[in-house]
Amino acid sequence: EAGAFLDLFLLPYTPQNSLLILRDSTKMRRLEQMRSDFVANVSHELRTPLTVIHGYLELIEQQENPELATIIQEMQKQSSRMNHLVEDLLNLSRLESESSLPEEPISTDSLMKTLLQEAAALSQGRHQVQAVGDFHGQLLGAPKEIHSAFSNLVSNAVRYTPTGGGIRLGFERNAAGGLDFFVSDTGFGIPADQIGRLTERFYRVSASRSRELGGTGLGLSICKHVLNLHQAELLIESTPGKGSTFRCRFPGARLA
Ligand code: ADP
Repeated sequence: EAGAFLDLFLLPYTPQNSLLILRDSTKMRRLEQMRSDFVANVSHELRTPLTVIHGYLELIEQQENPELATIIQEMQKQSSRMNHLVEDLLNLSRLESESSLPEEPISTDSLMKTLLQEAAALSQGRHQVQAVGDFHGQLLGAPKEIHSAFSNLVSNAVRYTPTGGGIRLGFERNAAGGLDFFVSDTGFGIPADQIGRLTERFYRVSASRSRELGGTGLGLSICKHVLNLHQAELLIESTPGKGSTFRCRFPGARLA
């Protein structure tokens, strides 16, 4: 059948024999495609009404009716949350459908400058934010996506670290000859048995706290997809009550 997917596996069985497995995965792949198309379509359809609601809310706000002020504020908060969610869902389904992205050399110094500005804006002086790491060069990758992956780790560090805590971020060469980007915080930390699930869509250690802090639950999932498209991996170390380190590990071939 045209357009069918067949998976072929050759497994060592005994020293003399191998096992050949042929699997028809057409149905599975089509279902997966339908799921991802569905998410993309729904997100796209939700975008327009949201923009309209947002616009009208701004208009009403300008009427300066004190009785309505708090209601409008809450409606604006909720509609902008929904907006973030829709944008993240769209980003995720775009990433899922790509097998590679257009790449170019990215200056780690200018990326660091942007990330520090973003951290400062989010933290509003509540944390000590520090650039560490001694690598100054170029990383080969898709600029917008790499920025969004790193920026998500930085914003998580700010959001999940109480006032007075510290956040350090930097680029450094790793022992395998590649490049690491890392973000360390002295925040809430994550229980060991939950670390493996963090990159699942909508997985949260504490759903109410995360929602309160403005997350969509999709950030780490997006981050992992971006890293996959760059042959990189996400390493997470954390101690509850002490803090966490999120590390993006790129292979040597990514040094531009
Ligand atoms: P969210 O939008 O909820 O932050 P993410 O996918 O970015 O979604 O993160 C998933 C969950 O991982 C968060 O809800 C939070 O529980 C946990 N998490 C992420 N980063 C950190 C961090 N730096 N410190 C503690 N917990 C974190």
